[in-house]
Amino acid sequence: CGIVGYVGRERQQDARDVLVGGLSNLEYRGYDSAGVALANGDVTVVKREGEVDELVGALDERAPSSAPVGIGHTRWSTHGEPSDENAHPHTDCTGEVAVVHNGIIENYDQLRAELREGGHEFESGTDTEVVPHLIEEALEAGADRDAAFRDAIDRLEGSYAIAAVFEDDETVFAARQDSPLVIGVGDDGYYLASDVPAFIDYTDRVCYLEDGQFARIDAETMSVTDADGKPVETSLSTVEWDA
Ligand code: GLU
Repeated sequence: CGIVGYVGRERQQDARDVLVGGLSNLEYRGYDSAGVALANGDVTVVKREGEVDELVGALDERAPSSAPVGIGHTRWSTHGEPSDENAHPHTDCTGEVAVVHNGIIENYDQLRAELREGGHEFESGTDTEVVPHLIEEALEAGADRDAAFRDAIDRLEGSYAIAAVFEDDETVFAARQDSPLVIGVGDDGYYLASDVPAFIDYTDRVCYLEDGQFARIDAETMSVTDADGKPVETSLSTVEWDA
């Protein structure tokens, strides 16, 4: 349903605050659960069925006090009941990568069967959970993180806006097909969201991703590529917004 991501420069802002604020600003879209993954060396995932307020309570207990990078999600279930386990982000078996997803992965049943055969264990009833396991599989086959993310996305059929973070990496990876994603360019870092209200409190300079595109943001740069990995020229626009 709703996605938000953030990579901050020189710790000017805490990812946790940006993500929680962003998820609150997306609440109007409706959702049944919410979660975040904060990457501060390790990836810490905190997620709850229910409202963003409940997530905040859980974050106070469980999350690192500050993190430079993270992703968040409000879920409107399509596959798997609303529950803590089915809330996003979802992780691979090792906990190296965390993924949030809007949309529906049509071929998840077949992918899950293949992954199970390869020894992957699933913790949720969602279509989404195949994605971190596909990334893990590609990493194990020797791909670097860029290629592993791309390989995983290539195997999906359906609609998606997807964002991922890895341990020991201050980068957010993203891709979209038939589900919106927009990058926000701030003075303090880069933002990512399914919809502009998520980060409009911080920046009104945006770059809309198109279907089939991949994006990578870190503290200093953003890069957008097409399905073949070729860089695409991006254009920034300024959104008109009366907050
Ligand atoms: N299909 C995914 C799920 O059920 C994502 C739903 C959404 O867009 O929030 O978990």
